[in-house]
Amino acid sequence: MGDIAGDDGRVKGFRGMRVPRRGVTRWAVWTLPLPVLAVILAVELLAAGTFATSIPHEIGLLPDNWPLVTGVLIAAGILSTEASLGVERMRHRSDETPHIDLSSVWTFAAAALLPGAVAGLVVIGIYGHLYMRVWRGGIPPHRTIFSTATVVLAVQAASAVTGLVERGSLFQSLPGLAAVLLALLAYAAVNMVLVVAVIVLSGPNRDLATFLHVLTRGDEAVLEFATLSMGALAAGAMGALGPAYAVLVLPPLIVLHRTVLVRQLEEAASVDGKTGLLNAAAWHVRAARALRRVERTGGRAGLLVLDLDHFKLVNDQYGHLVGDHVLAAIAAAVRDEVRDDDLVGRFGGEEFVVLLPSIDAPSTDSEDGRIAAVAVAERIRSRVAEIRVEVPDAGGTVVVDNLTVSIGGSSFPADGADLGQLLEVADTAMYAAKRAGRNTVRMGLHAVPSGVVRPAPHNHT
Ligand code: GH3
Ligand code: MG
Ligand code: MG
Repeated sequence: MGDIAGDDGRVKGFRGMRVPRRGVTRWAVWTLPLPVLAVILAVELLAAGTFATSIPHEIGLLPDNWPLVTGVLIAAGILSTEASLGVERMRHRSDETPHIDLSSVWTFAAAALLPGAVAGLVVIGIYGHLYMRVWRGGIPPHRTIFSTATVVLAVQAASAVTGLVERGSLFQSLPGLAAVLLALLAYAAVNMVLVVAVIVLSGPNRDLATFLHVLTRGDEAVLEFATLSMGALAAGAMGALGPAYAVLVLPPLIVLHRTVLVRQLEEAASVDGKTGLLNAAAWHVRAARALRRVERTGGRAGLLVLDLDHFKLVNDQYGHLVGDHVLAAIAAAVRDEVRDDDLVGRFGGEEFVVLLPSIDAPSTDSEDGRIAAVAVAERIRSRVAEIRVEVPDAGGTVVVDNLTVSIGGSSFPADGADLGQLLEVADTAMYAAKRAGRNTVRMGLHAVPSGVVRPAPHNHT
């Protein structure tokens, strides 16, 4: 989960002035947009309310060994956090994805073994420790409180479901299994929906499509279910054999943590931090692989090299920080103009590359590959010319527009047999576009202007 507020203890006043504040008013939570603040407060009040009101009902339902089970679960949570401290610190430093905590192994086990309020105590114990050891300093307290509140609610929901079946038969009958699975779904639904809702409300696109996209993207949901399943198994073993069996869950949990770290490091190593595009090395590896696939299937591919025009002037006029915002906006626009399986990379300073590995060529005529690549290049060129980047700065908002880009393209197999040759041709074509006056597209070995690339006469396209 990305930060939902800056936490430098300052809030922005009008026109970008930084106004230092003190005491309660200094909290980063007040810098959140109103809808986010409303959801966060509602979730926290609901969690506190259900926690407090369920205590009197549940006193009679407590299993005899509840202090032992509660203690073991909190201890196991603390132990697994400690065992994987390095992993957790990494996860939260570069976390843009919904925050999935592997501690849900223990909080879900609590929901399966204990009534909701006591399970809530386990959550508070584990999250309190996580905050002290991992999040403090890097993540504002309001985020920790919100995360804890969502998990308290998730645990209440899951515990309510498992409470429908007599606890003794939970892990010993088919209805018991059904209740465990249902509880797992309830837990995941409450937790993910609340967290993703806040992420989406904090972002620029506050609509249902974005919400569903964030909710279902990537492996996060898979990881969440893997963790919850381990929680169910832990609860089963602890319930049937004794609380000490929690110890068997620790080793696989640590392995799961490591796998997550490896995946995140791989991702971090291939992404350019400024633009979120592939960096040059990662782009090279993937583009070469994609091109080999095109070659095997006898398809066509296009390659575009983009260089922003007079970008130095943007830096000179507004400074490098504004320049960086502009780069990010242009990268997003380029990404938006191409297909999901097209590979967009940041090649150098203000140079981008795009491999189009699946262009629709109506025939095997080499000219067809060019036509498709030119169409994409022209689309990107006109989109860039429309971009208006608004960057808040000390004196108000800086608006940068009238941006243009020069694009050189090459097509496979007409202009080269491998990635190196295609890049060379496209790069030369890009310099030809610069010489031709910029804000233009040039294509192929002979740097043909885009308007000249037309279907060959025998193509009825
Ligand atoms: P043209 O390409 O049209 O010939 O002119 P240009 O001004 O864009 O020239 P060139 O491509 O040679 O210069 C690239 C400029 O891009 C120089 C540098 O100030 C800027 N630049 C490169 N990397 C970054 C970056 O990461 N952030 C910012 N803000 N600027 C960058
Ligand atoms: Mg350049
Ligand atoms: Mg340039």
